[in-house]
Amino acid sequence: MDAVYTLERLHMGSLRKGEDLVQGLTQFVQTKGIRMGILWAIGALESARLAYYDQKKREYVQISIEDGVEILSMFGNISEKDGRPFIHAHIVVGDKDRVFGGHVQEGCRVFALEYLILELSGPILARSFDHETGLFLW
Ligand code: ZN
Repeated sequence: MDAVYTLERLHMGSLRKGEDLVQGLTQFVQTKGIRMGILWAIGALESARLAYYDQKKREYVQISIEDGVEILSMFGNISEKDGRPFIHAHIVVGDKDRVFGGHVQEGCRVFALEYLILELSGPILARSFDHETGLFLW
């Protein structure tokens, strides 16, 4: 799978305290009509819901963090799933003692967030179920 894109616009913005990270970014992307893109973010979360994929069981294992954490890095892409914009992002968060990382899920509550979204034009990649992995892939 390979496709070539043209860089369109770079959006810079923020989410407000208390917003859901994935829902907030998805709403922005939908509002702007962004169908393909790349995103980065830094900031902090009041609580986090991450997951890693257990490749043998073929299911996501949840990681819940109820304390505030810093977003050390977040990177992801925007494509389509079920005909709608879909954000797939991974994140590294930490506090003074620990660092966690994984697949970002709904339920991450923003403390403060600054994002960059690079809007692309080109072929639309749609996710569909992949029997080999159990994941929704391009
Ligand atoms: Zn993932």
